[in-house]
Amino acid sequence: MRDWKNTADIIIIGGGIVGASIAYHLATRAQKDVILLEKEYLCEGSTGLSVGGFRQQFSNPANIRLSQETLNGFKHFKEDFGVDIDMHQVGYLFMAREKDIWDDLKNGVQIQKKYSVPVELLSPEEISHRWPYIKTQDLLGGTFCPEDGYADPYPVTMALARSAQSRGVHIIEKTRVTDLGVERGQVKGVKTTRGDISAPIVINAAGPWGGEVSRMAGIKLPVRPYRRQVFIISCINQIPGPVPMVIDLDSRHYFRGESKMILTGMSDLNEPSSFNLLVDQEFMVKVIEALVYRAPILANSRLIRGWAGLYAITPDENPIIGTITEIEGFYCAIGFSGHGFQHGPAVGRILSELICDGKTDFDLSPFAHDRFGKINLPGEKQVV
Ligand SMILES: Cc1cc2nc3c(=O)[nH]c(=O)nc-3n(C[C@H](O)[C@H](O)[C@H](O)COP(=O)(O)OP(=O)(O)OC[C@H]3O[C@@H](n4cnc5c(N)ncnc54)[C@H](O)[C@@H]3O)c2cc1C
Repeated sequence: MRDWKNTADIIIIGGGIVGASIAYHLATRAQKDVILLEKEYLCEGSTGLSVGGFRQQFSNPANIRLSQETLNGFKHFKEDFGVDIDMHQVGYLFMAREKDIWDDLKNGVQIQKKYSVPVELLSPEEISHRWPYIKTQDLLGGTFCPEDGYADPYPVTMALARSAQSRGVHIIEKTRVTDLGVERGQVKGVKTTRGDISAPIVINAAGPWGGEVSRMAGIKLPVRPYRRQVFIISCINQIPGPVPMVIDLDSRHYFRGESKMILTGMSDLNEPSSFNLLVDQEFMVKVIEALVYRAPILANSRLIRGWAGLYAITPDENPIIGTITEIEGFYCAIGFSGHGFQHGPAVGRILSELICDGKTDFDLSPFAHDRFGKINLPGEKQVV
């Protein structure tokens, strides 16, 4: 079997943005004996189905810092990797209808400004003035950061993975981890559909399957998969571009420009956890209705296509990153709750530092695996 090895220093489970970024950063730190295992092909999980947004508008400082590190990396991506990631800094416009949401947005702005985020508070009149196609009558206000935007997750992930590979990381696709070996509290390796591999360090970067992989190690972590659906509609010349990411935080509905089209989606908070990836026609109608409500000019647009992907959600909508204290050698980077594309690149740097140096400059306490039910951490309020 080409590329097969039955021992390694470090095994990474998962070939999405998070696994690829960890592999890349380990490789740049001269960790040569690393295997990345992917049950499908690279980027076929949530990463390839994401809408590629990045933003500094978070309520939790840890999330702001992760986004800022990634944004800096995206700005230099072409120089560093020779790859165009189709980056568009069109801005994110968050909008609020209810007072509690508006208060959260205003508090968010105060926190973001402490981290030098160029965010503005906007009245409904100002929103209407800048984007006349947005209905604002029911709004209390909004916040806008022009540095936010979107990029294509596929070239980002593939560039990180290929760069890791060129530095010696073994990437093995179509190979599923079926069990983890743990003896006397120490990781020993993994069982896979193609054979066993022994290793003293195993990293769980399995995205929506992160809860399952943790259970293989005998650890129960609250990470669950939830379907999220996205639709593309035609709108040629109906709206002057660039169309920012426009988010109705009350309903968790959003839309943005996508070439000469509009991309739109919404979180269905009543849908139970599942691995369902089917597009639901009834829900599609609700998304389009929410879109036309917010931008009535789009009433006569045509649906082009839709797809569904999975968010990996934790109870406070923040990820679990770092060591799992009960099992030596077991690390997790899972539960990104809808913001893993923009946080994965920074998390790879942080986790590789933790593994190689035993410490990192980034305070991972908001993301500790044992925080749930113990300490009252603020979590993340600006989630779409
Ligand atoms: C519709 C949608 C829109 C989104 N929009 C955004 C956005 O705008 N901005 C943003 O930042 N984030 C967004 N996200 C979230 C983002 O896509 C995820 O947080 C991110 O991709 C997570 O990356 P990952 O590497 O952890 O997971 P994944 O990309 O899912 O990678 C995990 C990989 O692990 C593999 N795997 C799982 N179990 C095993 C096993 N047992 N053995 C081997 N391999 C295994 C899977 O096949 C998968 O490829 C969106 C997600 C969706 C679904």
